[in-house]
Amino acid sequence: MPTTSDFQQQLADRIRFYRELGIHDFYRRETSVNSSGLEIQQDASLPSHSEAALTSFPGVTSEEMTPEKALRAIREDIGDCTRCVLHQQGRKQIVFGTGNPRADLMFIGEAPGADEDQQGEPFVGRAGQLLNNMISAMGIRREDVYIANIIKCRPPGNRTPEREECDTCSPFLMRQIEVVKPKMIVALGAIAAKTLLGVNDSMINLRGRIYDYRNTKLAVTYHPAYLLRDPRQKKETWKDLQMVMKYLGMPMPKEKEQQSAEKSE
Ligand code: URA
Repeated sequence: MPTTSDFQQQLADRIRFYRELGIHDFYRRETSVNSSGLEIQQDASLPSHSEAALTSFPGVTSEEMTPEKALRAIREDIGDCTRCVLHQQGRKQIVFGTGNPRADLMFIGEAPGADEDQQGEPFVGRAGQLLNNMISAMGIRREDVYIANIIKCRPPGNRTPEREECDTCSPFLMRQIEVVKPKMIVALGAIAAKTLLGVNDSMINLRGRIYDYRNTKLAVTYHPAYLLRDPRQKKETWKDLQMVMKYLGMPMPKEKEQQSAEKSE
């Protein structure tokens, strides 16, 4: 049975670890149950974006800090990361994230694959091509959105990221979210959805609704790599994206364009 002093030591170690990551503000994660009985961890007490992310850089005032600078500072904090085992398992480079630092819409995938590891940018392979088509079908460009992954290093053989890898890496993603401050996040696939929402449920149950998430909203849809394997689900994905577009007040494509979006390759 751990004693109070063991617990205090563990807490101190964890706080030191977070400081190392550049995280200085802490909050308590609260748990609640939504209308479908799904248990959701809510970050209701998270400080506002400006307090949490933009002012937490030593020696920089909030007036001087822009999202561009704040993202650069997060990238610098990551450095040539050795915090988890992936740095020893063949990754070429860290894949930080790309796009508009002030985007209303942010897409979050699972982990870089071979093409991303090679080029240092998320979603640049076949799945990325499909994601680009999904974004175009929404009437916007890849440069308008922000794209990142739960983890920033390629797992060997593209295996599913381990829980510990996600836990070690995702605080940096949380800081990116706090800086970009999107109005909506789209979690691509089960790993992204489960890691962000802190739930263990099937894609069928997770899709089709908008969640409150860290001062913003979040929707879940299929991962483009899954859609390449099962193109029949593109229609369902398009429904998810239309829900997102409606929430963001984006114009809906006309019926003919809509049919080609459902099929978009
Ligand atoms: N799959 C992902 O989840 N992310 C990428 O960046 C590429 C493929």
